[in-house]
Amino acid sequence: MPNHYQILVIGGGNAGLSVASQLLRKRSNLNIGIIDPSEKHYYQPAWTLVGAGIFDINKTVRNEKDVIPKNTTWIKEAVSEFMPNENKVKCLSGAIFTYDYLVVCPGIQLDWNKIKGLEETLGKNNISSNYSFQYAPYTWEMIENFPGGTAVFTNPTTPIKCGGAPHKIMYLACDYWRKKGILDKCDVHYISGASVIFAVKEYAETLIKVIAKYNIHVHYGANVTAIDGKNKTVEFETKEIDDNLTQKLSSENVGYYSIVENDGVEELKKVTLNFDLCHAVPPQSAPDFIKNSPLRDAQNPLGYVEVNKNTLQHTRFSNVFALGDCINAPSSKTGAAIRKQAPVVVENLLAIMDKKTVTAQYDGYSACPIPTQYGKLMLAEFDYSNTPKMTFPINQAKPNWAMWILKTKILPWLYWNKILKGTA
Ligand SMILES: Cc1cc2nc3c(=O)[nH]c(=O)nc-3n(C[C@H](O)[C@H](O)[C@H](O)COP(=O)(O)OP(=O)(O)OC[C@H]3O[C@@H](n4cnc5c(N)ncnc54)[C@H](O)[C@@H]3O)c2cc1C
Repeated sequence: MPNHYQILVIGGGNAGLSVASQLLRKRSNLNIGIIDPSEKHYYQPAWTLVGAGIFDINKTVRNEKDVIPKNTTWIKEAVSEFMPNENKVKCLSGAIFTYDYLVVCPGIQLDWNKIKGLEETLGKNNISSNYSFQYAPYTWEMIENFPGGTAVFTNPTTPIKCGGAPHKIMYLACDYWRKKGILDKCDVHYISGASVIFAVKEYAETLIKVIAKYNIHVHYGANVTAIDGKNKTVEFETKEIDDNLTQKLSSENVGYYSIVENDGVEELKKVTLNFDLCHAVPPQSAPDFIKNSPLRDAQNPLGYVEVNKNTLQHTRFSNVFALGDCINAPSSKTGAAIRKQAPVVVENLLAIMDKKTVTAQYDGYSACPIPTQYGKLMLAEFDYSNTPKMTFPINQAKPNWAMWILKTKILPWLYWNKILKGTA
C-alpha cells in the first residue's frame, strides 16, 4: 500500500465518504486514501427509531468495505497525530502517511466518563442511550416494559451530534405510554444543559406545546454529573430550583427531588432525582487526537478543528479542510449539515488544487427531524442565523405525516444509495 496520497481523508463516516465520492465524480483520476480503523459503517440517525421500536438495528450498519467508494484506498488504521507542517499523519500502529491535501472528518467523541457511574450501568438497571449502537435496542425494551414511574431524559451542556436526539426519544416514549393508557402514571423529566428547548423560535414554539401536552417537567441549565444505576438516582447541578416541584413530587410520592448540597459556587445547587427509567446522552468533544494537535482551535475548550465557518478551509493550513461533527463552526452537528458542507469542501479543495481562490460558502444549514408522536414529525431546517430555511412548501413547524415518512423511510434509503455515493 502506498504511503503518499494526493488527497488523504481522515474518517470514513458520513462526511468522509460523501466528500470522497463527490471528488471522484468531479475528477475520476484523483488519488484518494481514506484512513478509518472501523470495520463497520453506521447510519446513526436511525438509532432514535431503533430506540422507539420501529427500526431494525441491523439495518443501521454495513461493512465499511462495502460502502467505501471504488477507486479509493481504504487504510485500516487509526490516526493518532497530525503533522500539518510536514503534510504527514501518524497512526497508532506507528505508520506514517503523507499527502498533498488533507480532509479531516473523524466525527465527535462521546465522553461517557464525564458522567460518573454512567458507563458501568449503561444497558442495565433501566438506563440506556440511543447514542450507542449496542444499547439503542435496550432503550425500546425499557420503554415498552415501563409500567409507569419517574422517567428521566438527559441532555448534556456541551454541543452534541444531533441536538434533537435527547428529546426526540422522550416525545416518542410519552406517546407510546399515552397510547398504552399509562402516561398519567409517568412523571417525565427532561434534564437539559441548554437554556431553551430549541434554538430556533418558530420550532421551539411547537415543542413547548408538545412538552405541555405530555406534562413533561423541564429543567434547563442543568449539568448531569452522576448516574447511579444501583440506587437509580441522577445527580445534576443547576441554578434553578423549582420549589413547587419539590412539593409536588414528595407529596405524590413518585420520586424525590432534593437539594443535597450547595457546592460553594453561588447559587449552583446539587440536586438528586430518583428515577425508574433513564435515557442518558453523554457530553461530547473533539476526538482527543484532534484536541492534542496543531489543527485544533486553541480558543475552543472542546478542541474542535479550526476552520473558516463558510469555506471550511483550515484557518492556518491552506491545504487542509474539515467538515462534519469535528469542526468548530457554530452549526448544528448533523448528517443534514454534512450534505451541504461536502459540496463546499469539494469545490474549494479543487479550486486550491487549480491554484484558484476558494469561493464556495457554507451558510450553516442544518436540519433536525423531530418526531413529536408516532406518525408525525416536525422537520426543523435552519442556518447560522437560526432562521428557518424550509425546503418544502408547507409550514414545517407543524408536525405532519409526510415528514415522518421522509425520516423513517426515505432518508435511510437516500443515505445508503445516494449520499454515500456522492449523488445527493
Ligand atoms: C442518536 C443519533 C441520532 C441522530 N439523528 C440525526 C438525524 O436525525 N439527522 C441527522 O442529520 N443527523 C443525525 N445524527 C448525527 C449524524 O449521525 C452525525 O452528524 C454524522 O454521522 C456525522 O458524520 P461524521 O462523518 O462527522 O462522523 P461519523 O459519521 O461519526 O464518522 C466518523 C468516522 O471517523 C472514524 N474515526 C474515528 N476515529 C478515527 C481515527 N483516529 N482515525 C481515522 N478515523 C477515525 C470513525 O470510525 C467513523 O467511521 C444523529 C446521531 C445520533 C448518534
